[in-house]
Amino acid sequence: MPDEYLKYLQSLNDRQREAACCDVSTPSMIVAGPGSGKTSTMVGRVLFLLKEGISPSNILAMTFTTAAASEMRDRIGSVAGKAIAKEVTISTFHSFCLQLCRSHAEKLHCTSELLIYGNGQQRRAIIEAIRLLENEKSKPDHDACKLGEDFNGMKCLQYFKDESKKWQKFVTQAKASGKTPAECRTMGDEIGAAVIEKYNDILRSCNALDYHDLISYSVKLLNNFPEVFKECQDSWKAIIIDEFQDTSAMQYNLLRILASHNHITIVGDDDQSIFSFNGADISGFDSFREDFPNYKEIRLTRNYRSTGCIVEAASSLIKHNVKRCQLKNVLTENSYGSKIIVKECHNEEAQCSFVVDKILENSFNGSADKCSYGSTAILYRRQLSGKVFQTAFRERRIPFNIHGVAFYRKKVVRAIIAMLRTTLPGCDDGPYRQVFKAFLPLEREEKKRIINHIDKICTIRKSSFISAACDIFSAKISGTFKRSQLTQGRKVLSTLEMILKLVHREQSISAVITSVANLVPQKYLLEHRAVVDFDGGKLLNEDNDLRSVLRYLLDDVSDFLSTKFTVPEETKVDEDKKGCGNVIKAFMDYLSERERENLRTRRHENENSVTLTTIHQSKGLEWDIVFIVKANENEIPLLHDFNGVASEKGNSVEEERRLLYVAMTRARKRLFILYVTMDSCWQLLRPSRFLKEIPHHLLEVQAELCVKDQQTNHQNIQKETAQFTINLSREDQPSETDVVENDFLKVQFTEATKDSMQTVEACDGNSFLRRFSVDDR
Ligand code: ATP
Ligand code: MG
Repeated sequence: MPDEYLKYLQSLNDRQREAACCDVSTPSMIVAGPGSGKTSTMVGRVLFLLKEGISPSNILAMTFTTAAASEMRDRIGSVAGKAIAKEVTISTFHSFCLQLCRSHAEKLHCTSELLIYGNGQQRRAIIEAIRLLENEKSKPDHDACKLGEDFNGMKCLQYFKDESKKWQKFVTQAKASGKTPAECRTMGDEIGAAVIEKYNDILRSCNALDYHDLISYSVKLLNNFPEVFKECQDSWKAIIIDEFQDTSAMQYNLLRILASHNHITIVGDDDQSIFSFNGADISGFDSFREDFPNYKEIRLTRNYRSTGCIVEAASSLIKHNVKRCQLKNVLTENSYGSKIIVKECHNEEAQCSFVVDKILENSFNGSADKCSYGSTAILYRRQLSGKVFQTAFRERRIPFNIHGVAFYRKKVVRAIIAMLRTTLPGCDDGPYRQVFKAFLPLEREEKKRIINHIDKICTIRKSSFISAACDIFSAKISGTFKRSQLTQGRKVLSTLEMILKLVHREQSISAVITSVANLVPQKYLLEHRAVVDFDGGKLLNEDNDLRSVLRYLLDDVSDFLSTKFTVPEETKVDEDKKGCGNVIKAFMDYLSERERENLRTRRHENENSVTLTTIHQSKGLEWDIVFIVKANENEIPLLHDFNGVASEKGNSVEEERRLLYVAMTRARKRLFILYVTMDSCWQLLRPSRFLKEIPHHLLEVQAELCVKDQQTNHQNIQKETAQFTINLSREDQPSETDVVENDFLKVQFTEATKDSMQTVEACDGNSFLRRFSVDDR
């Protein structure tokens, strides 16, 4: 066994090995640029600790996403064996804190059944908070906003939804920075304070916490309860944190308390900090230096991932950031490779065709220097930009995986999850409401009327949705419903009972999910056939929609079961005694965590499929070929302030530059950066300002020039590389000789075209129709 460990440690370079093997009680800090083997070193560190005799169950490794945690477990498992890897606690901050809060729920005045509210549930709680506050204020315009009042209710719901976005952001930011309602009041923000308070009340009444509560409550537990502190000290003999630059002030606080015996290793790169909207705070590096004065700092400088050209281009870009904590010199011994292709496309469809053609041209198994689909990724700033690729890939039969697809937001999947949630103790109204929506075999309007009526009864009686529904359908309350509608309602109630029985009886969560999925009414499935969207383009047709949904769900279940931290020991014991309720509960937590990351990953998913992902989710990952698409202004950088108003604050521009830096450094061999010149409404778009910060000699610019002949007024589009070739019918010589250059592109004309050239108007890289003439050089 130790041979394998040694082999791994020997494969590291000297600095990496030094970092992996430093004494356990020395706080250490590994700071290095992308692709320099930070994560590889972190894996080495775990192996070293195991080799030194530290029990795997005493090691805590924190990563930023569940995908990164799985990846790390696989890497450790391949050297130390799966059984040992499973023993190591490899966890995100949130799952770690959830375990802690669950184990000590009574100290927090919660029950151990506490629910975790992900993004969607948090939004609903915010809507509810605003609705309650509005009702309290009894504002005349919103007087009619009581539940159940169809027309006004609808109108107001939109109003609350619009407001909720703003307030969700506000509450998140306040909580991330530890701002209390009292502090808001001191600053004169009475409404802000009231929203936070109301929102907290709603969560408390549902025995629920959000992600920020999880961290702050964990800190409270460690600070206020010495026995909890001791338990943690006894449990964790070594703590390692990857992607340290993305920890928030509150998360850092938690680490500082946990690592009071100095047994901590942090790994990070301040240039890759891209989660400030979640409270990430790179001043954590400075705090670490102050709090652990005997720390050892190790820098890794060699990039093993990318070609020389990519490393040089990325480094030149990031040098434009002024606020950098650590200046890093990143070098590589890899070959220089091809230039980065910067491609101008006249619209998103053209951009998509270019990418598809390139992928088909580059891919295929068999030839040594070609890449498989699995080693290709398309990165974008916003989910929306991925859509056009999904359609094209499906048409061209290119298999793909989508990171960040809202699989769990698909109506059918939500119905299945809601059915499972109703079996958990203390389930709130949301899942019941959703099940009724899915199961009542009625037309939309009729269904809405019934649900609104149940809501109305809830409000009047101050009861839960399900008890109101029970009373209505068992005709305890005289209602306005027809007999057939009552029968349908009763059917839904008995389905709910059936699911509950199933959960109590059945031992296997997969079997429960399979049975539950088969209960989803055919009508509902047909209404929501959009499930085809999430598939990699390989299978789906009408008949196997449900089968595919199930396949994905069961894949995720088996992923979940392979992680230790989500299924604590006591859950397993309970599971034998009374069905699989506890496992379902743990699975729901796992899904909430996934929802937070907006991520759905399957094991081995990118084996032979192109990956489509946002840049944020591409963190820590790498591919041979990377396409960064829509590198436009208002995408990268996307600058807006709290109210969605554009702002150009230095901070945001620097964070946006880091985002492009992260994207570029995902590529091993080939990098393509694309931008478009026109949106779907024919509005002209500008290329990202960051493109001109990359030295020109590292780029091969390919553009499509829209040329307009002044005489004929005829427009045509020429696709040429590097130099623009413009063919016009007129023979006149150029009348002007201005150098054609814009922010980013320099347009040169070939000798051949010069002869037949004249002044033209062209749509250039800067996207403005302007006068061009010959550059004489
Ligand atoms: P990021 O900042 O993007 O998270 P990182 O610093 O964590 O990157 P890794 O993902 O650990 O870098 O490594 C990047 C690539 O370099 C991986 O393919 C890894 O296998 C390879 N690599 C790391 N160290 C070495 C080494 N000593 N010898 C050969 N290859 C290495
Ligand atoms: Mg890494």
